[in-house]
Order: sequence, then C-alpha cells, then structure tokens
Amino acid sequence: MMQVTFPPLLPTAKGLQAIFLDRDGVINERRITHVTRWEEFAFLPGVKAALARLAALGLPVFIVTNQAIVNRGIVARETIEAIHARMCAEIAAVGGAIVKVAFCPHRPDEQCGCRKPAPGMHLDLAAHYGLDLSRCLMVGDSCSDVIAGQAAGCRTALVLTGQGREDVIRAPALGIGNFMIAADLAAVVQRIERQLIPQIVYPATPAVAEAAD
Ligand SMILES: [Zn+2]
Repeated sequence: MMQVTFPPLLPTAKGLQAIFLDRDGVINERRITHVTRWEEFAFLPGVKAALARLAALGLPVFIVTNQAIVNRGIVARETIEAIHARMCAEIAAVGGAIVKVAFCPHRPDEQCGCRKPAPGMHLDLAAHYGLDLSRCLMVGDSCSDVIAGQAAGCRTALVLTGQGREDVIRAPALGIGNFMIAADLAAVVQRIERQLIPQIVYPATPAVAEAAD
C-alpha cells in the first residue's frame, strides 16, 4: 500500500490533513444504472483539474464509495477494482493523486458497518493511515455522504453535482446541518485554496449564494 506522509499543518489548507471523496456524482457522472465498465465512467467537468490542485496543496485524497452492485452480483469485485485503477491512472496523468479507493461491496440488507451513511470506511482509513478525522473533509453529493462524514467526525461538504441539488433540499428535514455547500468539487478546492475553512463545521446557509463562487 502506498506510504504517505502528512505535513503537520498546511498553511494553505488551514489545518486540513486529508480529503475523503465520494465517487459517483462527485468525481464521475452519476448514472441511474451504475457504472459497470470503464466505458460508462465519465469524469465530471473540472474534476481532474481540481484533483491536481489538491495534489499541489499536498492534501492526500481518499475515495469512499458504496458499490452494492458487487454483492448484488451485477459486477465482479475485480471489475470494480479495474475501473478504479483506470480512474486513478487518468487522475495521475494530469498530476492528481488518489491514495486509496475504499469501496463497500455490501447490499443494504447485509447491514455492514461500511456502507454509507455508516462511517466504517472512514474509520478504517483513519486507523490505517493515522488520520485525525477532525482535520479531514468529506465531500459528497448526498445526505448519506454528509451523515457518514459527520459520524466519522469529519468536516463535511455537499456538492451540487450528482444528486446534490435534490439532497441539499432534503438535508434540513433529515436534521443534517453544518456542512459546506459548493457547486462542485472545483468550488470546494477553490475554497480550500482561499483558506475559507477556518473551523470544524460550516455554516449551512446561505446555500445557493455560496454555491455560486
Ligand atoms: Zn459494507
């Protein structure tokens, strides 16, 4: 497994130590029928450049993704891993870096501890890589991602790509607050670069106005 060393406190990132990213709807286009082969994987606009900027900031990036299609028998584990290898290679080709792609293969009925909104993947990565979760930012496009990130003790951000535009409306009714709202991953990275992340939690409003930056 790749060895990573973490800088003590990044002045450019206001103490952020690492970034967790959801995959579908954050990195690639969310599909109704899921990604079962590389030809169905489409990077969202600006994502590869944003990942290169995170690498330039020295921020390690981890991906945490639910892939129940594995245990549903729709796609083989090896196929998912091959898709992730290709994804990581394309990201690396533009100067980005993914330290580790963690995925949960379980179906909801298996009641595992790693399927988001459970925080198992975050906790496992933190234990393995020595992460301080309070200094990590979880970025997702769904309420489930925000719940998982907050359950793990992370700072959280909801992007309005994928199903984000629907879930940003659902969030208050689910009792979810204190997360950053941004148009897309590039906008999150821009805010990190501007050092607008000085606190553990984020004001939940104003949503749309902040998403415009
Ligand atoms: Zn699981």
